[in-house]
Amino acid sequence: MRPGLAVVLVGDDPASAVYVRAKAKASEEAGMYSITVRLPAATTEAELLQHVDQLNADPSIHGILVQMPLPKHISAEVVIRRVRPEKDVDGFHPVNAGKLLNGDTDGFAPCTPAGVQELLVRCGVKTKGAECVIVGRSSIVGKPMAALMMQDRPGANATVTVCHSRTTDLAGHTKRADILIVAAGRPKFVTGPMVKPGAVVIDVGINRVDDARAKRGYILVGDVDFASAREVARLITPVPGGVGPMTIAMLLKNTVRAAQLSAGLA
Ligand code: NAD
Repeated sequence: MRPGLAVVLVGDDPASAVYVRAKAKASEEAGMYSITVRLPAATTEAELLQHVDQLNADPSIHGILVQMPLPKHISAEVVIRRVRPEKDVDGFHPVNAGKLLNGDTDGFAPCTPAGVQELLVRCGVKTKGAECVIVGRSSIVGKPMAALMMQDRPGANATVTVCHSRTTDLAGHTKRADILIVAAGRPKFVTGPMVKPGAVVIDVGINRVDDARAKRGYILVGDVDFASAREVARLITPVPGGVGPMTIAMLLKNTVRAAQLSAGLA
């Protein structure tokens, strides 16, 4: 059988268009069946839900991803809840979020935090008993990241601290971290002096920063100031090229598993 992935893009947000193209390209390169549903920004919530229903019912589609953010007149919550949990390869449906927190392994973990965990495992980073500090508490990255790292299983078993916009003494927390995962959406926010010597630093951030010297007029930078943090860290991920490609790899992995589950093979 051929795993099938449908990516739905509403509107013309340039960053979203780049992500959607990258996801479609990667799934085709892997030999999957891939479709991209492009809808105008004026699409109503009801019209989008109709498309989701069609994909839910399509046996050639095993994974559905609705690219966020959606236009303001569409409720992301309503759309996320409409995707069948068995096809929710983004792992955003409350059923999958609940399974992740409970430690059930038959759901789908969101791709970015799952990719971060995979990076740690593949790089041989010891997570058991490690102090893992996460900066950011979004439902897409920070919260599921915490849920993954606190589980009682290999690649996890860390002592997790979650910092957010109301945290006092952020540096006091980050400086304790053996594993520091930053997803704050703020360019170069975490600097070298905030990092514990020898720490593993995972930079989830992707920020477009204006730069007149760049061909496109902007450059991509992470949430970590790479130049100063690399002097202190033992391992650090670059932006671009670190967590981003892992997010796509985990999307493909979730889609393959969704296909296997649909055929009773997993
Ligand atoms: P978000 O804006 O939803 O959440 C940001 C979080 O950072 C919030 O929970 C907030 O409490 C916290 N925060 C903000 N200011 C803070 C401060 N001063 N101190 C401590 N915490 C603070 O963002 P998100 O969707 O979680 O994304 C975070 C970053 O990761 C963005 O740069 C985004 O582009 C990037 N991202 C990358 C990928 C990828 O594939 N690499 C995927 C998703 C998001």
